[in-house]
Amino acid sequence: MYQPVIGLEVHVQLDTKSKCFCGCSIKFGQSPNSQTCPVCLGFPGSLPVLNEAALKLSLKAALALDCEVSKFIKFDRKNYFYPDLPKNFQISQYDLPLSHNGALFIDSESGRKKIRIRRVHLEEDAGKLVHPEKGKMSMVDFNRSGTPLLEIVSEPDIDSAEEAYDYLLRLKAILEYLEVSDCNMEEGSLRCDANVSLKSAGGALGDKVELKNMNSFKGVKQALEYEIKRQAELLDKKKKITQETRLWDAVKNVTVSMRSKEEAHDYRYFPEPDLVPFILDEDYIKKIRESLPELPQARAERFAREYNIPRYDAAVLTADKYLADYFEQCVQLYDKTKIVSNWIMTELLAHLNKRNIDIRYLELKPKSFVSILEMMDEGSISGKLAKEILPEALESKKEPRDIVKEKGLVQVTDTKEIETIVERVIKENPKAAGDYYQGKTSAFTFLVGQIMRVSRGKANPKVANKILKEQLERRGNA
Ligand SMILES: [Zn+2]
Repeated sequence: MYQPVIGLEVHVQLDTKSKCFCGCSIKFGQSPNSQTCPVCLGFPGSLPVLNEAALKLSLKAALALDCEVSKFIKFDRKNYFYPDLPKNFQISQYDLPLSHNGALFIDSESGRKKIRIRRVHLEEDAGKLVHPEKGKMSMVDFNRSGTPLLEIVSEPDIDSAEEAYDYLLRLKAILEYLEVSDCNMEEGSLRCDANVSLKSAGGALGDKVELKNMNSFKGVKQALEYEIKRQAELLDKKKKITQETRLWDAVKNVTVSMRSKEEAHDYRYFPEPDLVPFILDEDYIKKIRESLPELPQARAERFAREYNIPRYDAAVLTADKYLADYFEQCVQLYDKTKIVSNWIMTELLAHLNKRNIDIRYLELKPKSFVSILEMMDEGSISGKLAKEILPEALESKKEPRDIVKEKGLVQVTDTKEIETIVERVIKENPKAAGDYYQGKTSAFTFLVGQIMRVSRGKANPKVANKILKEQLERRGNA
């Protein structure tokens, strides 16, 4: 048996309007090279100026991750050549990061577990190469060049692929709560690399492999699972693990070697002479600390207390800021909090997961969602019908009340109508009625089922039960 030792390095794009060291917009999806200037194109003689919004967002994240914030801020040049990097260096932070020694708590098999955060620092992104005709030509888009990125590096405290997955979910939740980043992986706002090695029973730590190119949290989990298995098999065969960088291939579900340690970069870091170092005063940090919003864990505790829902529900609901917002909007309109949480956690989440929809883009607004629960309370639809109406409302974008009306689905509570159905059902099922008088309770259930069938699910079950009982008693006494 081997113990995996995993560390994660996450890059998130900060949600600023402009780039890290110039005034160009960072809006996604604009035409190539339309958001550039001499600074982010690396023209000689152009000078960078730090975007204060990027610094503030970085500090918010660092403080929320319990980091020690450095008062002395300086930037360094990370030198390397690549076609998407016109300056031949990236402005980053090396020996004196913005913050260090933080922590994030995850759920592990043995309960709550602390994952130490080694550092959180600010840097700029490079441009992007596009390959319209593979092998024939490549083009470069500098719109992304100079975009502010936060690099969050964990200590290798993570023991399994599941823990890595949980860490990422929690980190994303915190960053979303802080409104530091939209964390959209499809648009590249959040990227994650992983380091993994295996510790053998004797305690010897194997060589480290770096994993790149994972495009989703699930991808990170799968890549780690694959890599742990691959390394364990090599060690079992007494083979050596090469220290290298491997790429995750999401189509073949394997990791493939990209470069070995010998080819690793030497970035020749040195201080960026174009940006003066500066000192953050206590008041500035204090103000940012005071501006921090309620974070997932605190919100979960408040949900359990204020809305009287189980801790488990509160944890699920608050893991996503926007899901938690949705829940809170619903319970403002409809005060049966446990029913709301059940419906969101089962019916709604199942729908969102199935169709891969972010709750932010859900068209069914809280008011319409709770109207389904209200119709149930009013007795106009049964619970079974309510569960059928929800997906339809989500699908058709119609108001649940309109769907019920259009389909004539309104539950029958009219006793006259139900009495007629009950009479018919008893007449058509003399054997079941006989069994009922023999004391077989299953016969009663069967008859109720028949009533529901004849009414096509529209009879109010409570009323139907009552009438059936009355009619059977009356007949039995006659
Ligand atoms: Zn620019």
